[in-house]
Amino acid sequence: MKSIAEVMRQPQGHWVGDGFPVRSIFSYNGDTAAISPFLLFDYAGPYVFQPNGGAPRGVGQHPHRGFETVTIVYDGEVSHRDSTGGGGTIGPGDVQWMTAAGGVIHEEFHSPAYSKAGGPFRMVQLWVNLPARDKMAPAKYQAITSAEIPVVAFPGGKARIIAGDFRGSRGPASTFSPINLWDVRLDAGASVTLDLPEGHNAMIAVLAGAVTVEDKPGGEADIVRLSVEGAGARVAASSDAMLLVLTGEPLGEPVFGYGPFVMTSEAEIRQAINDFNSGRFGVVAA
Ligand code: MN
Repeated sequence: MKSIAEVMRQPQGHWVGDGFPVRSIFSYNGDTAAISPFLLFDYAGPYVFQPNGGAPRGVGQHPHRGFETVTIVYDGEVSHRDSTGGGGTIGPGDVQWMTAAGGVIHEEFHSPAYSKAGGPFRMVQLWVNLPARDKMAPAKYQAITSAEIPVVAFPGGKARIIAGDFRGSRGPASTFSPINLWDVRLDAGASVTLDLPEGHNAMIAVLAGAVTVEDKPGGEADIVRLSVEGAGARVAASSDAMLLVLTGEPLGEPVFGYGPFVMTSEAEIRQAINDFNSGRFGVVAA
């Protein structure tokens, strides 16, 4: 089995634009080897937005380079547009897997319909690092609808497989390095052994409810990080629980991050800033 490395938590929240009340539970400012290939975990909500008759809330045009942003919606709706011409609205159960790679400019807003109606809001945005050789690949966008995500039921719960494999079911997301991303639900009193691979960093994010991972308790917005050594972990729920499970093979490459750019050297960061300032990231069509 894997052993517990630490429990990560960030009680202090902040707003991203005016649409995303997030807790950044981990980011690339910490020990990046321990979280690789992941870079950042923003838990937005749970929150209730009041109906808004004006412009949708969110965050306006901004760049990314060197990694992927993965947005998983639980409640609410987000609309996105980017400089590759990609765009669309995702709602509960849907996932947007955006490969910024060589560079993208995008905007992220509540959908007009959700904005107008208001209501519960909960989502996760995960940043996934790219191997050095893929950092300057062309940008792309995978819109993964809820219907495309296989569901694996087990006694006392179920798992939606967004990426990687779970008990023989394969998730639809294509990834640049070996990654598992599972949306796991457990009923109160249920337990499950998760097949977390040997050689992967593994993290279990508790989005709602209370669980123990091995012997370690975790509550809402805690991320239990497990050792790269060993395989599998036992999770038991003491109340209905919503978990996001992430595992990945560490990239073992340097991480130089500066805001929305994550590269492998300071020189590449300077290049990213120059390229962005000279308009080489393209434009978001009006
Ligand atoms: Mn963004």
